[in-house]
Amino acid sequence: MKRKLIAGNWKMNGSAASNAALIQALLAGSHGWRCDVAVCVPSVYLPQMQGLLADQAIALGAQDVSAHGAGAYTGEVCAEMLREFGTRYAIVGHSERRQYHGETDAVVALKAQRALACGITPVVCVGETLRERESGQTEAVVKRQLAAVIHANGHCISEIVVAYEPVWAIGTGKTATAMAQQVHAVLRSQLHAASEHADRVHIIYGGSMNAANAAELLAQQDIDGGLVGGASLKPADFLSIIAAASGQGAPH
Ligand code: PEP
Repeated sequence: MKRKLIAGNWKMNGSAASNAALIQALLAGSHGWRCDVAVCVPSVYLPQMQGLLADQAIALGAQDVSAHGAGAYTGEVCAEMLREFGTRYAIVGHSERRQYHGETDAVVALKAQRALACGITPVVCVGETLRERESGQTEAVVKRQLAAVIHANGHCISEIVVAYEPVWAIGTGKTATAMAQQVHAVLRSQLHAASEHADRVHIIYGGSMNAANAAELLAQQDIDGGLVGGASLKPADFLSIIAAASGQGAPH
C-alpha cells in the first residue's frame, strides 16, 4: 500500500511570523509520521518556507503555476521560478481558480504540463458544483476535467496527483464521505485506461477534511490522502489528520 499524502492548502492566509509559528508547531509534532506531508503556501512565502523546511519532513508546494514559461505575463509565476525555491508540488485547477479566475479545463491541463516539465508534481483538482451534483452530473464533470489533463500529458499522467474536491464541500463543513470512495474509484479506472502505472497515482480527497472525519475518509480503499484547507492552518487539527493518515490515533 502506498504512503498517504496530506497536503495543506493555506490559500491566501499567513504572514512571515504566523508561518514560522505554524511550521514550528508542525515540526515539533512530526515524530513518527508515516505519510507524506506538504504545505502549499502563497508564492510570496516560498523563499521563507524553503529556509524553514530544508531537510525537514514537510515538502513545499505552491497553489498555482502559470500555463506559460517566462515572459510578458504580468502577475504570473512560472514553474521554473517555483522550482528555484524547492517547490515539490503545485496545486492546479483549484475550484477557486476555476470559479474566480475563469480557468478552463484546457488551461488547467497546460498548467499541469508546465509543472511536470519542471519536475514539479501537479495536484490536479477536479470536482462538481452543488448544481452539477444535484443534476446527477458528478461523474461526467470529474471525468471531463481529468480527461483534459490526461489528453495533454499522455504517458506522464502517472506522475500527477489528483485531488477530488467537490466544490460544495470546500470550506462549508460538509463532506462527501458517503460518495467520495465511489468518485475516487471512477477516477482510478479512468487513469487505468490511460496508463499502466495508474496505481502509483495518489487520488486525494479535499473538502472540509478535519480531525474528526479524516480517519473515516482515509480508510476508504481509493482515498490516498487529503488536500486540507481550513484545518491545515490549525496545527493540532493538521497533526491529527496526519496521524490518521499514518495509521495512528490522536497525536501525542
Ligand atoms: C481546499 O481549499 O482545497 C479545501 C479542501 O478547503 P477546506 O478543507 O477548508 O474545505
